[in-house]
Amino acid sequence: MIKVTIWNEFIHEKTKPLPARHYPNGIHNAIKEFLDADGRFEVKTAALEGENCGITKELLDNTDVLLWWGHVAHDRVSDEAAELVHNAVLSGMGFIALHSAHHSKPFRRLMGTTCNLSWREDGDMERIWVIKPSHPIAQGIDRYFEIEHEETYAEPFDIPEPDELVFGGWYSGGEIFRSGCCFYRGNGKIFYFQPGHETVPVFKNENVQTVIKNAICWAAPTARFEIKCSHIKKIGSEE
Ligand code: ZN
Repeated sequence: MIKVTIWNEFIHEKTKPLPARHYPNGIHNAIKEFLDADGRFEVKTAALEGENCGITKELLDNTDVLLWWGHVAHDRVSDEAAELVHNAVLSGMGFIALHSAHHSKPFRRLMGTTCNLSWREDGDMERIWVIKPSHPIAQGIDRYFEIEHEETYAEPFDIPEPDELVFGGWYSGGEIFRSGCCFYRGNGKIFYFQPGHETVPVFKNENVQTVIKNAICWAAPTARFEIKCSHIKKIGSEE
């Protein structure tokens, strides 16, 4: 079983009518529901309202892959929590940044860039194209899939060149976006996935669910250890 923790800011679902209608128990629990139904994952949830913003070292030590959804309260995540996540990724924990988590503290730290992008909210259709069909995260996905309505995220997207670009998004208004990007940092694997705006029920889309499940399996660590800067002795000179 892969140990998954879903972290959610959990504010819109309690303050805005559309997110409350689509996700009455929060986005984290909607994701947990389809992961639980799969049987390969042992799933915990955490939220901003928890102690130390829901993030502790003990939790991360017991997490193979951390999913992150945040939007309006990135600045309320403590630097300490962001650093714990950063260090856990460097030691091998997988990290999946969903939608507006592009601006979350952990993701920006891991990227080292602004992660700014262009956006508009007009309910466009998004067609997500598979760019790398051999990639583990693209398995079970046809040449493309469509999301009926989604917030438009558009290039330029200020991220480092992705190590692997798995999906590219095209919107009915004409924009394009790097919608599914993989990065390697230290021992950890990171996947950024663009779909997931809170006013539309994107996490109920079966293809989106397949991608998230594939991404968890891909990002799960094969080994996890702290990367040290060790003083070494010349071979043959050891005691
Ligand atoms: Zn959004």
